[in-house]
Amino acid sequence: MDWYSDPNATKPGDKWSQQDLKQLKKKLITANHILHHHGVVDAYGHISVRHPQDASIYIMCGYMAPGVVSRPEDLIEYRVEDSFPVDPEAKKGYSERFIHGEMFRMYESVNCVVHSHAQDVLPYATSEVPLMPVFHMAGFLGKKVPVFDIATLYQPGEAQDLLVRNACLGTELASKFTSPGVVLPDSADKIVKTDHTVVLMRRHGYTTHGPDIETAVYRAIYTKANASVQTNSLLIQQAWSQGSSLGGLTPVLQPLTEEMCDGCDRMNTGTQDKPWRLWVAEVENLPLYVNMG
Ligand SMILES: [Zn+2]
Repeated sequence: MDWYSDPNATKPGDKWSQQDLKQLKKKLITANHILHHHGVVDAYGHISVRHPQDASIYIMCGYMAPGVVSRPEDLIEYRVEDSFPVDPEAKKGYSERFIHGEMFRMYESVNCVVHSHAQDVLPYATSEVPLMPVFHMAGFLGKKVPVFDIATLYQPGEAQDLLVRNACLGTELASKFTSPGVVLPDSADKIVKTDHTVVLMRRHGYTTHGPDIETAVYRAIYTKANASVQTNSLLIQQAWSQGSSLGGLTPVLQPLTEEMCDGCDRMNTGTQDKPWRLWVAEVENLPLYVNMG
């Protein structure tokens, strides 16, 4: 259980003790290790969480690989309004922290953000093949996974490294999590919730989020799993249609229906504490991962 899904837990806005914040930072370090262990991040990619006592601040690790984050001192607090560090003397952070800051600024329901370059997902960010929910653990993907293409936003002469390295690019990415036509908020207001859980980033990777760390990690891991299953489904269908002596098989992928997505998403949300406990146990028993939080 966590501070959002446990009805008895202290909620943001309540008075939190330093111990609560300490526990959340420890959980954020564990989440870094889990994402690394499951190949969602390597030396690149990152996770952040909104500060439980102050919604205008978010927390993520400094400029280091997620697998070796180990101490509370490795974490940096940033202002949601502009993604600058609360402590002007803070050490170097990720250039792509604007992915996180703009999600927290735009959406009230977002308390954790994960950004990944996982290679299983990249074919869907480099081709026109849509990523679709193809099995019951990925109902959260819903009927559409939008694609953010940074190439459409560059000005002539601008450096084009595909990184979301400023608030303007972060805003454009965050806006993909809501439906076209929704009026985006100014700095004072927020959209209550997103319409999408995952957005692909053309030639780059994907970003997902959740109301808590467990949900965002679950979505990040199962987005990768779903992409792998979908790719294999497409390949095996194509191979069968070309090679089967039975013939007559038209390659058609059958994703979850909208009703299945809703049902599976509810089921996944209700049971995700089980994989979380497994994932924590895995990283706690591997020597690479040290958590002094
Ligand atoms: Zn990136």
